[in-house]
Amino acid sequence: MTKSIMRAAIYARVSQDVQRDNYSIPTQIAACQKYAKEKGYGIVGAQHVDPETGRDTKARPDTIPAYVDDHSGTELLRPSVLTMLEYLRTEGADAVIVLSLDRLARDPYIRQTLEREIEATGARVLYVQGSYAETPEGEIHKDLDGAFAKWENLKRAERSVRGKIGKAQRGLFVVGAAPYGYDLDKSTKGGLRVNEETAAVVRRVFTMYAEDEQTIRGIVRILNAEGIASARGYTWTNASLHKLLRSETYAGRAFYNKRTTLDVGDGITQAKRRKVVNRDPSEVIPIAVTSIVDGVTFERVQRKLDFNREAIRQRARRFYLLSGMVFCAKCGRRYTVQTEPARNGRDWEARQYRHRQSDGHCADHMISARKLEPPIWSGIVKVLLDPAELARGHEASLAAQREKLAQAREHLDTLRRNLTRLDKRQAGLVRIYADGDISRAEYLAQRTELDRERGELAAQIQAIEEQLAALPSEGDLESLQAFGEDIRGVFAAGDIPDETRREILQKMNVRIVISEDHTTATVSGIFQAFDCCLLSKS
Ligand SMILES: [Zn+2]
Repeated sequence: MTKSIMRAAIYARVSQDVQRDNYSIPTQIAACQKYAKEKGYGIVGAQHVDPETGRDTKARPDTIPAYVDDHSGTELLRPSVLTMLEYLRTEGADAVIVLSLDRLARDPYIRQTLEREIEATGARVLYVQGSYAETPEGEIHKDLDGAFAKWENLKRAERSVRGKIGKAQRGLFVVGAAPYGYDLDKSTKGGLRVNEETAAVVRRVFTMYAEDEQTIRGIVRILNAEGIASARGYTWTNASLHKLLRSETYAGRAFYNKRTTLDVGDGITQAKRRKVVNRDPSEVIPIAVTSIVDGVTFERVQRKLDFNREAIRQRARRFYLLSGMVFCAKCGRRYTVQTEPARNGRDWEARQYRHRQSDGHCADHMISARKLEPPIWSGIVKVLLDPAELARGHEASLAAQREKLAQAREHLDTLRRNLTRLDKRQAGLVRIYADGDISRAEYLAQRTELDRERGELAAQIQAIEEQLAALPSEGDLESLQAFGEDIRGVFAAGDIPDETRREILQKMNVRIVISEDHTTATVSGIFQAFDCCLLSKS
């Protein structure tokens, strides 16, 4: 038996993504154990694993020291990685043996972070599958994309997350600025002290909503008219007031770790989208703070908000022939739709297309559906009933689409060429850094600039690709010819149901632009555009 001189810890992991995960814990441990024996390492560690089941267990003669993480941890905050690092720092080892790169972490930046933390304890990271030169150049080539800049950012983020969770577990409010109505103060309950001035506004808002039968919109108007600033010093909006009324902090219950942001890849391009999701309730850390609103008022407000949400949901089911198709001639923004309930002596609901400054439009006005929909629809019917007109418009719009497509494709080609150029510059940069011709600081600065340019290009490319996808293809337009025939059949048969009418408008790509004075609408689509008079004849 050879006496080992060198000590190694074994690390193994199964990830959340079971489908892509081919390695069970026992397989990983067996491979690492074999590797250690071949290289003359003795296995050390304070945690033991049963080699048959792969489960953590107490030390026995037949168990193996190993650090194992299952899928309950996130990529960055894994319990066994942390205890292993603790062991390496206190007891020390010469190496950590891992089956393969992706067992330490799938994400190259996270992997580099962990590698550096392990290396900082004096241990090397050894991969059973695949070995890499331990020169600076080998390190760079191992993961060209694992830029140091990103690694450092991540490291900073990680430290901050660990710090915040620690603070929350000690019962202090943690995230950024204090909520409206409070000031940060470590010495008080939950780390939040009531600010009497703004807390009075909070109480008044809750009372107005719960007892004075005020609407959110009405309260926003009152606060802004009185010049009361919101949390960050801005004017109040429906959204900010709604958020305030829903905040459990005012009832004395704050939470940390309630939501998290996930990167959602689309699986085809490299584009990453971010999505905010609620965490599992077991991960949420509650923090008790001083309440501002009494429990009864708070609950009454929640019930009223729930009730109104339900009412709005039901109202949204009202049929709007043109929703999403109406735009303002002046600011170009899309009109929204709204139903006013029957009241004030009017015994029918008023369906309206609205334009509102509070929604970012250029002015406040609305046009009733009863006034807008009939003239637009009869204009469309005229187009549909005239086969010659339909064919002419079809040809014209097809030609226009072809031109648009050609331009967009050309622009896209240019952008893609620029992206290739950036890639080459980056490869060159890595080369001169590896040759020692520039300092790390210079490398990082140039690297950051390249990343920024790349981000801008990628955004432009994405915007054009979206535009291209939205353009109707020749196939769509051809099917419209056949569709026109069918439609004439439908007209002959009598009344057309609402949903069918809407479908017809959508297939024709109808877009309605309303003049600023609400007297005319220009209707365009895959036909010759026409103007429509909106002054009611009745
Ligand atoms: Zn406008």
